[in-house]
Amino acid sequence: MIVSVAETAAPAAHAAMPKPSLVGRTRSGLAEALNEIGVPEKERRMRVGQLWNWIYHYGVRDFAAMTTIGKGLRAALAERFSLDLPEVTAEQVSTDGTRKWLIRMAPTGPRDRGAEIECVYIPEMDRGTLCVSSQVGCTLTCTFCHTGTQRLVRNLTTEEIVAQLMVARDRLGDFPNRSAPDGAFVPNDGGRFVSNIVFMGMGEPLYNFDGVRDAIEVITDNEGLSLGRRRITVSTSGVVPQIGPLGAEMGTMLAISLHAVRDELRNELVPLNRKYPIAELLEACRSYPGLSNAKRITFEYVMLKGVNDSDAEARELVRLLKGIPAKINLIPFNPWPGTRYECSDWDRIERFSEIVFRAGYASPVRTPRGRDILAACGQLKSETEKLSARARLMLDQDETAAAAQAAH
Ligand code: SAH
Ligand code: SF4
Repeated sequence: MIVSVAETAAPAAHAAMPKPSLVGRTRSGLAEALNEIGVPEKERRMRVGQLWNWIYHYGVRDFAAMTTIGKGLRAALAERFSLDLPEVTAEQVSTDGTRKWLIRMAPTGPRDRGAEIECVYIPEMDRGTLCVSSQVGCTLTCTFCHTGTQRLVRNLTTEEIVAQLMVARDRLGDFPNRSAPDGAFVPNDGGRFVSNIVFMGMGEPLYNFDGVRDAIEVITDNEGLSLGRRRITVSTSGVVPQIGPLGAEMGTMLAISLHAVRDELRNELVPLNRKYPIAELLEACRSYPGLSNAKRITFEYVMLKGVNDSDAEARELVRLLKGIPAKINLIPFNPWPGTRYECSDWDRIERFSEIVFRAGYASPVRTPRGRDILAACGQLKSETEKLSARARLMLDQDETAAAAQAAH
């Protein structure tokens, strides 16, 4: 059941271009902004530090609140830039506390209404996980994934990736001197509302390598958002040449969308497999920088009825992963309108997970979260581009029935 829904009107078609926002910028991006308004180079480093603190530590939305910065400079900044966050056009809160935000990015030109992406927040007892997107849509065409059916594709900028965390913390009241909104999950161990980030929303993060790398740089900076690199997981469908560089340059946790144990089937489910087959992918995993028992690779395996869920496949999965410090995540397939797949039956998933468990892997089947609001990672924004927000929300409600059915 959806317990709360908010939506806002669409912007006018030819609205004036908004001032560029400083939120989401890297340190060098902020230095550029200061350069544009004529701040001398020798002063810039110190000013960047001040802006950084106000933007990322305090989350301020107004230059006037930046009291350590002189009035003249504040006015000059406000004249040219904003501290706007992308607009949340719809918010849904699930009965289990999962929140899904539909976020409209700032337009990139006068004819652009602004691309929309979804971002999901999943609160648990010991953590709060934010599922973020790296692209609008996806150029890959995994047959079980709704994102792969979307035509509109572009990389999100670094700012747009960081902004998803900023929006989440803003909506959860998770900045100093802010209070949590009603119904928000409040950690009782002094932890953060968002303690973990997974790149499991829309898009293939390793096809937007620089954008994701720079966003992680901002997110992990100790003087701002301060998330540990081990609390960030980048999920890839298997872009083999970028896996080593991901470990070396980003140092995050790695998740691999495996989904099949034979090339023939994986070619069909994850067409990128034709370019980088299973053996090459697992080789890249074996040499992932920093790999150890404390830093395991997560292998995602979506449970598709009668397609990849036999006992023999469970045994083959275990055999393939031998020697790789790994976790296995069995994901119940989340159906979408028009899909040819069904989710495996519950007893089949249990049987599969038992084989994996007996081989020494804790294989928690991810409890479907936010099913009532169609919030599963990997199945975010659907092909509802042309629908109004209201029609879109009604569509989501209709899909609730199918999702619930699949979960039982
Ligand atoms: N492109 C990246 C990250 C985004 S998809 C990747 O493929 O890894 C995040 C995860 O959700 C992937 O494991 C993906 O296979 C899975 N997924 C996609 N569609 C799904 C669906 N309908 N039900 C369950 N999981 C799905
Ligand atoms: Fe793209 Fe990942 Fe979906 Fe495949 S599963 S289409 S790579 S988002």
